[in-house]
Amino acid sequence: MTTDLAEFARERGVKYFMISFTDLFGGQRAKLVPAQAVADMQVDGAGFAGFATWLDMTPAHPDMLAVPDPASVIQLPWKPEVAWVAANCMMEGEEVAQAPRNVLRRQVAAAAERGLHVKSGIEAEYFLLDPSGEVISDPHDSAEKPCYDQQAVMRRYDVVREICDYMLDLGWNPYQNDHEDANGQFEMNWDFDDALATADKHSFFKFMVKSVAERHGFRATFMPKPVEGLTGNGCHVHVSVWDTPGAGAGTNVFADGDAPGDTGEVGLSPAGANFLGGIMRHATAMAALTNPVVNSYKRINAPVTHSGATWAPNTVTWSGNNRTHMVRVPGPGRFELRLPDGGANPYLLQAAIIAAGLSGLRSEADPGPRLDIDMYADGHTVTDAPRLPLNLLDALRAFDGDAEFKGALGEEFAAAYLKLKHREWDSFVSHFSRWERENALDI
Ligand code: ADP
Ligand code: MG
Ligand code: MG
Ligand code: MG
Ligand code: MG
Repeated sequence: MTTDLAEFARERGVKYFMISFTDLFGGQRAKLVPAQAVADMQVDGAGFAGFATWLDMTPAHPDMLAVPDPASVIQLPWKPEVAWVAANCMMEGEEVAQAPRNVLRRQVAAAAERGLHVKSGIEAEYFLLDPSGEVISDPHDSAEKPCYDQQAVMRRYDVVREICDYMLDLGWNPYQNDHEDANGQFEMNWDFDDALATADKHSFFKFMVKSVAERHGFRATFMPKPVEGLTGNGCHVHVSVWDTPGAGAGTNVFADGDAPGDTGEVGLSPAGANFLGGIMRHATAMAALTNPVVNSYKRINAPVTHSGATWAPNTVTWSGNNRTHMVRVPGPGRFELRLPDGGANPYLLQAAIIAAGLSGLRSEADPGPRLDIDMYADGHTVTDAPRLPLNLLDALRAFDGDAEFKGALGEEFAAAYLKLKHREWDSFVSHFSRWERENALDI
């Protein structure tokens, strides 16, 4: 693991570092720092005016300093003279409480205090559009069921292969790439890791996919529902909890040896079931973070898509190996949260899951009954399962109303997030839309 960025630069021929942090809206902000200045920056941090980003600061705030975490450094495979490094935001010697990487680090520390290490893998789906962002890049990609379409994936082989090659070089252990369920949509999978490492990789993956797509004359988007009527961009998270940090290390404390078979077994140890209980209890509040933009709610609660299913949940329910519920337990020792979408901030996404899970562990929460029905076809028969929020405002209210979850994530963070997100909602509702005219002109 790299500890000295100046040495990293000398060894690898790096000329510039992108000292990068992620704001509350998931925007990645960076300064390009020449290698000769990085030794000082590694200690003091790179200076930013916080007000100029989405962190709920004023122009009167002192400088914010982004202190790089050398463990996260990645030499850009497509431009090796530059290296990206994730940074922790500081101000006057204190951590900036609402900065997303700090929010996640607090959750990682809270889990570690209990001797637990959350490990997760993500599935960050994306679309390849033409540069205007209006239409998918491949006019021939129009099948009704385009999932796994081998002809269509090969038409974008140059992009997919380049990204996968980079992940191989970076040691992420990618293992499959496919055309997904919407026209123009792709998914690439690599191995799970510690939650903070996965959040850094998730951030870098988005940067890399967008960069490579641009170099090929396309535009990549992770927007939750970029094309009306097609399956949206999910960002499923697979979660397990271990007694030791590090990819491949330790014992999975979620594993109890039982597959979630037809007999209704959970497939998770009692601790795993309690963690899941926390996810179920806080799900509607969590949606404010896992589904953070106005457009997110066109993916969940969506009408049937052209392919026949949305693959997104509508209710707070869990199941065995069944993709119609919010949570799937695909095999022993882990669960898959299918709620999050491509709009999720990589750090807040992991932080929300850990905060909810730890709350479940503390209270020995019961996840409730496992449901084995096809939720899309027979969901109406389940009357007592909470519905997921119908829009961003519902989600923000659910988050605001969940004092325990908000408190676990940090009051300062929650206040800043709610303030900025309510402003976004207000901006949306004050936008005069064509739909309003069409539905009220002749009233
Ligand atoms: P899906 O069947 O949902 O499409 P994918 O193969 O696309 O699954 O993604 C599965 C993700 O889950 C990968 O990132 C994988 O490394 C991760 N994963 C596998 N086992 C575990 C585990 N025990 N804990 C956390 N993540 C896991
Ligand atoms: Mg200046
Ligand atoms: Mg997948
Ligand atoms: Mg998928
Ligand atoms: Mg999945």
